[in-house]
Amino acid sequence: MGYILRAIDKSEQIKISVAITTDVVQEASTIHNTSKTASAALGRVLTAAAIMGSWQKNEKDSLTITINGNGPSGRVVATCKNDGFVKGFMTNPSADLPVRESDGKLDVSGIIGQGDMTIVMDVGLKKPYSGTVNLVTGEIAEDLAAYFLQSDQIPSAVGLGVLVDTDYSIKAAGGFIIQLMPGAEDEQIDKLEENLSKLDGITSLIEKCNGDGEKILEILMEGFDVKILEKRDVFYRCDCSREKVIDAIVSIGPEEIENILVEDKKADVTCHFCNAHYHFDEDDLQDMLDKAKEINS
Ligand code: ZN
Repeated sequence: MGYILRAIDKSEQIKISVAITTDVVQEASTIHNTSKTASAALGRVLTAAAIMGSWQKNEKDSLTITINGNGPSGRVVATCKNDGFVKGFMTNPSADLPVRESDGKLDVSGIIGQGDMTIVMDVGLKKPYSGTVNLVTGEIAEDLAAYFLQSDQIPSAVGLGVLVDTDYSIKAAGGFIIQLMPGAEDEQIDKLEENLSKLDGITSLIEKCNGDGEKILEILMEGFDVKILEKRDVFYRCDCSREKVIDAIVSIGPEEIENILVEDKKADVTCHFCNAHYHFDEDDLQDMLDKAKEINS
């Protein structure tokens, strides 16, 4: 289990969320058998989705971040519901690159490549809200800050980090998003920039604070009077089920189902997010065909 702290400074001009997602990223890494660099890439996207998912208002609201890069990792997707369930996958979780020579860090931008980032917010309206920005660095945090500025005109500071141990286990993972409201004073911005300039990366901050989100919040917001508004748990959990897969197959329509029945006499579906496997035999497919015909009649 991980958690998100949502806080605001006393003047209500600076909003901050801090996430501790070590267990979430560990679960994702175990399910997808990720390389070290892939753990970092997927973990950062999962952490961002977990924070933004926690901002939503209604229980059924969901938020999905998709990174479409041309690097070896392929697509990276993370989705989080307001209930704190987060899940994700990437096309090629074994994608890896040597540690970057310039800074000794895992080469996340290298496996992501160039491309864009799309964020979809589904709050139960007919059409979900969707925004896309080009990737700035492919390191995810900078890309997300660019998204907030371009899409919402909100200046933000974003930190996302995953520390992978030599045995591939996740030593620490987490992040923060700080957002400036329109009335923020120059002094506040200067102070915040000073705090951020002292940081030696989010992973070392998490390590230094022993994974204590409140301590991280204190360090990031040193000199500010901060009020914690909410502490919310986050879990890696997939909500797929046999029923949902059946609904999805039924929705492709009677013709397609008939094709599967004639050609394969069975269907096998594996969930991208949790690797759960669903098998359907001829009788199952016949039932789904009847259902699809009924809906389309
Ligand atoms: Zn699943």
